[in-house]
Amino acid sequence: MSQESIESRFAPILAERENAALTRRRPLATSAQTPEMQINGLQVVNFSSNDYLGLANHPKLKQALQSVDSLSYGSGAAHLVTGHHLEHHLLEDEIADWLGCERALLFSTGYMANLAVQQTLMQKGDWILADKLNHASLIDGARFSDADLKRYPHNDMQALEKRLKQAQADNRQCLIVTDGVFSMDGDFAPLDEIQALAKTYQAWLFVDDAHGFGAVGPHGQGTFEHFGLTPDDNTILMGTFGKAFGTSGAFVVGSEILIETLIQLARPYIYTTASSPINAKVTREALRLVQDADDARHQLQRHIQHFRDGAAQIGLTLWPSESAIQPIMIGDSQRALDWSDALKQQGYWVGAIRPPTVPKNTARLRVTLSASHTSEQIDGLLAALAQCADAFPSQNS
Ligand SMILES: *Cc1c(COP(=O)(O)O)cnc(C)c1O
Repeated sequence: MSQESIESRFAPILAERENAALTRRRPLATSAQTPEMQINGLQVVNFSSNDYLGLANHPKLKQALQSVDSLSYGSGAAHLVTGHHLEHHLLEDEIADWLGCERALLFSTGYMANLAVQQTLMQKGDWILADKLNHASLIDGARFSDADLKRYPHNDMQALEKRLKQAQADNRQCLIVTDGVFSMDGDFAPLDEIQALAKTYQAWLFVDDAHGFGAVGPHGQGTFEHFGLTPDDNTILMGTFGKAFGTSGAFVVGSEILIETLIQLARPYIYTTASSPINAKVTREALRLVQDADDARHQLQRHIQHFRDGAAQIGLTLWPSESAIQPIMIGDSQRALDWSDALKQQGYWVGAIRPPTVPKNTARLRVTLSASHTSEQIDGLLAALAQCADAFPSQNS
């Protein structure tokens, strides 16, 4: 067989994506991350980012940046070498205290945390029971572990229980894996029911609450707080700093033995350079802001209700989402792009989410709201959406 060139292998794949309206582009931001942004040279109101509390460009974080003289930008090494700075250590302690867990461990990204937890905890013969709509990083984490991955239909508790029964009969250790708030749909996992099932069948539970921490729950303590639940010793929680915290990185919280196991065994923790100590210091300030953000969380709730009421009036089909993620279902990928383009022309940046990020024929606009939006900006978006609904009438929503 003759060897192919990179071009002969990939040019047809790229062309196929282009034909199916699935080519990804990287919008170029030339301003700070705020509701009003310059993207691709357009002045727009941004409804696409995950900066739910408006912290990414917060003056207090900038102030924290000005008092980092004694810190180097680079950590210089992995955590187990010399990269584990006091600022990382303090941030871990403060996160654990905040969430009432024994211990926390920092990761450079949520993606890596999701790889680490599943690879490390789950062994050959174990089952990972994962919601079909879990974030891609959770799916990759399951694939890279030696366990068998079994996916259950979205939030389908009967299907989950059936799997748990099979696993019990087969004497398999299970890890139930779910988003707390689903990233492309905005709905919650029914954690009360999932936790009860986990207890009944002695499964472990791993919740990725990237979109919950900071934004969800009366004190921003995430989806467990929203449901009034407390995680037990067989529960692992993951959160990220790249969303409501407005910085970057991630953490896992849980029992002492869980965290020690990850430090000893988790390859995505061990074999990578520690994130910047400056990021840890600024994130400690972000945690204080998150703890103080009750007003912003109320504002966010008002915005969510306002947007949903307005969208219903226009006749758009709403998702059963109580979170800041408010998808508008379009279906066809090209049409989702048409809507998104028309909104951009009117000054509103709303991303079109297409397969493979979401299932086939479920392309959608993903509107994300932030406490830092104004009501006027949301009204403006609603007016622009009403125009789209008129301009693309075959959308029978
Ligand atoms: C963003 C996100 C991640 C990845 O976190 P990063 O820190 O951006 O790598 C993981 N899970 C969910 C549900 C997310 O939304």
